[in-house]
Amino acid sequence: MNNQGINHYLESAVKSSEWHKEYLDKMRKCRFDTIAVHGVYSMQEALDFNQGSIIEPIYMSTSQSYRDSDEMEAALSYQIPTWCYSRIANPSIYYLEGVLALLEGYNTGVETGCVATSSGMAAIQSAVDPFLAIDPKNPDQKMNFVATCQVYGGTFQQFAIRKNMERNIEWRKVVNSNDISEWESKIDDNTRFIYGELPSNPAQAFFDIRKVAELAHKYALPAIFDSTVATPALLRPIEYGADIVVQSVTKSLFASGFGICGAVISRKNITSKFGSDEMKADFAGYLKLLPNRDNGPNISPMNAILALNDIRTLRSRMDMVSRSTQTVSRFLESHKHIERVDYLGLESHFLHKLASRYLYLVDSEYDELYRNKVNRYGHLMSFLIKGNVTDTRNVFDGLQRIWRATDLGRIKSVATIPAISTHQQQGEEARKMAGIPSNLIRLCVGAEHPDDIIADLSQALEVMDGKKYAVTAPDFSAGGASSARIRR
Ligand SMILES: *Cc1c(COP(=O)(O)O)cnc(C)c1O
Repeated sequence: MNNQGINHYLESAVKSSEWHKEYLDKMRKCRFDTIAVHGVYSMQEALDFNQGSIIEPIYMSTSQSYRDSDEMEAALSYQIPTWCYSRIANPSIYYLEGVLALLEGYNTGVETGCVATSSGMAAIQSAVDPFLAIDPKNPDQKMNFVATCQVYGGTFQQFAIRKNMERNIEWRKVVNSNDISEWESKIDDNTRFIYGELPSNPAQAFFDIRKVAELAHKYALPAIFDSTVATPALLRPIEYGADIVVQSVTKSLFASGFGICGAVISRKNITSKFGSDEMKADFAGYLKLLPNRDNGPNISPMNAILALNDIRTLRSRMDMVSRSTQTVSRFLESHKHIERVDYLGLESHFLHKLASRYLYLVDSEYDELYRNKVNRYGHLMSFLIKGNVTDTRNVFDGLQRIWRATDLGRIKSVATIPAISTHQQQGEEARKMAGIPSNLIRLCVGAEHPDDIIADLSQALEVMDGKKYAVTAPDFSAGGASSARIRR
């Protein structure tokens, strides 16, 4: 074999990265929907490397084969782009990361990078752990981080148990995230990052992102936001100064519910008084090639492509489900058995005005239907039953169209009682602090016609008038649904 030397590979890597940069610049000029549909997968790439496949191929291979030892050496020292080993890099995962980076950075004028992870929880851990490393200059420092207490149940456990309890890294909880002075009062020299979730799951907490990011930067800290509930179709925190965004891609981005997936998206040159220059220059790229290589929270290529396939229709889907949720929330708000409805889209919500400054359907001003910027608030809402825990369970148990599951973001409507499911582990007191009473039902409205969702809620609520359920489900428990069918 004609060995061409390492320089040959370095030169072609420069050429290919220039080409990719040009292509990315071209994509950045496209509208959101076009980016969501095509991402970073180009016609040229399809024709040159992928048999002309118009859909991004799923490369299940664990590793890449090299032409010779020079190429291998250059690849494994990261001098040339490589798909060396799928825990580190894989083309299918790259397509997902590419589209998410572009969507979170859409219209922000900021260059972004992304690393996909096996789950939203892995994304949160990947995003925060590099800031919690021991400082060699100050090895005995008692670190802390400042984060909203209204967070997803899994995040609560990760912060309270894995970090605070097991590693003695103090979680300073912000209880009223709307009070910027409360955030500030918790920051000191030992604070490593600022973290917030918005809108929060399920409490619909919301805060002034721009102000919180400014505050973080005043203290040279990174601002990290979990923007899962909004998705980039409704909110791009990087536009308002966020350094790092985490997504549980599992949810509305991956609406079909085929798998678990997460992502960390960061701007180039994040703010942080802690960490190396290399880490700050391209945080997502650094995560991908170093900490995540060593810790291994990577996603499978199959899941990456399945998620990517759902993302193509994100904008119109979020528009549709947001409008339905608005309709359903209005119905519930005026229902006699409902104590309160929490949905940022309702004028009655105390954070409606603030949320309306941030939550817009992206590109609605270029949409034939709207020709204007329109607010959209997503499809997660919750409501409180006027009654006790048993009444709440009875209403919940009467649902016949809306699935009872600890899930959200689905194309199908799903409901849960957070106090006995997603937020069960954190205990009564923490639930109170996070605003999760036991008569609260969380509902995520899917893409069904809202009339049918309202009809289901309406019949389930009849139990409060003393009505029994109209339909009793047959008992499949002795052998399961499939064997019951065989017997018939
Ligand atoms: C579900 C969820 C997570 C965790 O994501 P997984 O993909 O389930 O690990 C994090 N944040 C929010 C807001 C979520 O809803």
